[in-house]
Amino acid sequence: MSDGDVQMKSAISVAATTEPAIVFDRVGVSYGRGRKATVALADFTLRVAVGETVALLGPSGSGKSTALKALAGFVRPTSGAVRLAGRDVTDLSPAERGIGVVVQSYALFPHMTVHNNVAFGLKSHRVPRAETAARVAEALDMVGMGGYAKRLPRELSGGQQQRVAIARALAIKPSVLLLDEPLAALDAQLRHSMLGELQALRKALPDTAMLYVTHDQAEALALADRIAVMRDSRLVDIDTAENLWQRPPSDFTAGFLGGANLVPCTVDHVTGTAALVTAGTSTLRAQAPRPGVGLADWAPGDDAQLCIRPHTITIGKPGDRDALRATVLTSVWRGASTRVELSVDGLPGDLAADVSGHFTTAVGSVVGVRLPDPAGVLIARAVTGSTAEIGGSGAESRGDTL
Ligand code: ADP
Ligand code: MG
Repeated sequence: MSDGDVQMKSAISVAATTEPAIVFDRVGVSYGRGRKATVALADFTLRVAVGETVALLGPSGSGKSTALKALAGFVRPTSGAVRLAGRDVTDLSPAERGIGVVVQSYALFPHMTVHNNVAFGLKSHRVPRAETAARVAEALDMVGMGGYAKRLPRELSGGQQQRVAIARALAIKPSVLLLDEPLAALDAQLRHSMLGELQALRKALPDTAMLYVTHDQAEALALADRIAVMRDSRLVDIDTAENLWQRPPSDFTAGFLGGANLVPCTVDHVTGTAALVTAGTSTLRAQAPRPGVGLADWAPGDDAQLCIRPHTITIGKPGDRDALRATVLTSVWRGASTRVELSVDGLPGDLAADVSGHFTTAVGSVVGVRLPDPAGVLIARAVTGSTAEIGGSGAESRGDTL
């Protein structure tokens, strides 16, 4: 490496202390042209700070991988820009970006040893050969694979192969690490233990910004400082996991993160962040956090949705104090808990409840259902099913929520 390179590098790391590690600036990606074009990412704006981990969480096809590929340089944005530590990299090749990438399918070279697989990326990053062995060993040690350098990928389990793929990404000492569903191909038990290892890895790399793509809310909750929820090529909500869980800004996020009963209701009375609402013929207390950006505070007469989490509902006898009469519609035992669908007298729609253990009351039985107090949290109905005001075409969109 020349002196010029060294200076260039330090200039970038100085910038990294003031600029976000990752910026997506209104990125759009379409596949194909003309009438056959698919919009895979629309007006996508996101900043990830140095050392921060952001999960991109959303259903299959929502544009998560496309966002990651646009940042890594595997697809070209149709509009907008991507920046790394303040530097516009939109026109650079993947290798020039110096990003570590880990994908679901491991993508190891089958005929190369573990050592050579990890060393491969170093070559394209022009790491001197004398340094290679030490860098490979260090990266393999970080993922607990130090003893496997001479093996071929087929001589490893799926979890071990994925560790090697992670080591390969780490060997270039990236300041940005992208992971696209890295645990999706593993069985449930292994996924759980790998999740713990990824948490440890995060701690070991405090200056590395990570973008972690997943459709699994448990992974997002376990790993991310903030979660960016995606739907239909757009970012719909972004916040800490805690905030998204406690005060979901939209019904989509409420449902995707944790599961939710969304009961239509009308606001009767508001005091600070508490409200009384009418749902069907029932009057219930609700939490009323300030609505999303651009929406007015809650007022009497507002149409809203009450988000009632299934695990907060308890089932007893019909005559129990404060219990609503309900009929059991279905009951599915899941081992540690049972998901019970209920038709509750006086409430619109059906309610799902998760009760602990094996709930054996027969379908068709009449029971008493107790909601928590407050029963749940209000979500604006204006946000329902519409992404128009979120990341829409207005110049002011989104910037204020980052
Ligand atoms: P996710 O990772 O959230 O599952 P993707 O980013 O892979 O979603 O895909 C977003 C959308 O773009 C989907 O509708 C998908 O079918 C489409 N898409 C992805 N890759 C291509 C491609 N190479 N060519 C055409 N359409 C694509
Ligand atoms: Mg994907």
